[in-house]
Amino acid sequence: MTQHSVSIRDLSLNFGNVKVLEHLDLDIAQGEFIVLLGPSGCGKSTLLNCIAGLLDVSDGQIFIGGKNVTWEEPKDRGIGMVFQSYALYPQMTVERNLSFGLRVAGMKKDEIERRVARAAEILQIQPLLNRKPVELSGGQRQRVAIGRALVRDVDVFLFDEPLSNLDAKLRSDLRVEIKRLHQRLKNTMIYVTHDQIEALTLADRIAIMKNGVIQQLSDPHTIYNKPVNLYVAGFIGSPS
Ligand code: ADP
Ligand code: MG
Repeated sequence: MTQHSVSIRDLSLNFGNVKVLEHLDLDIAQGEFIVLLGPSGCGKSTLLNCIAGLLDVSDGQIFIGGKNVTWEEPKDRGIGMVFQSYALYPQMTVERNLSFGLRVAGMKKDEIERRVARAAEILQIQPLLNRKPVELSGGQRQRVAIGRALVRDVDVFLFDEPLSNLDAKLRSDLRVEIKRLHQRLKNTMIYVTHDQIEALTLADRIAIMKNGVIQQLSDPHTIYNKPVNLYVAGFIGSPS
């Protein structure tokens, strides 16, 4: 059996009586950029939070790097997560925001410095290292948020609508940046959005979701030109 970077097996999640995810299966290859696309409320964040370990699943399993992590702590899953709201520490400088988690984990000072410098270089935020979040633009803050995942040197990045709070120009700039980041790092990325353009431009494969079920999982070209049903066609397909 080939080992996938992330495998989701028969995953279900209920909030009380409400079934949000139902018997979901998904295999993601090492280095793949997967976009979870669907309207608000379809369960994208819930699925991402299950993978991250921020929510307990009702049933099923999650494997990361071949290891069953279904009941592992978030910090032990080898993932880094970037949210829509930046969740930076407001009282800390950018440098501190980037290094804080590594310090807490007891990493050596020179290794921390090396990792922060590398992340700052990749994301072009070196001039901002001594600033506080309040002194940054939305786009700069989101770069720092990505940097916090980057310094942890994880195999799998999870993004939950990271560009939604940005204006159109910044959104397209940072979209290009994220694409570049993936091309450079070649890690696995699972990226949630409700924006069709983001999905079509970023993804190796797009998973279209509706009511907690994946309707179609294909490369952008196939999704766009050969939607499997009217729902997918209406959401992303080419007008025909
Ligand atoms: P998306 O990210 O696609 O917009 P979510 O995963 O946030 O969707 O939500 C999926 C469904 O689960 C929605 O109907 C939402 O109202 C519901 N939901 C999300 N979080 C909770 C919660 N903590 N308790 C109860 N219902 C929730
Ligand atoms: Mg969401």
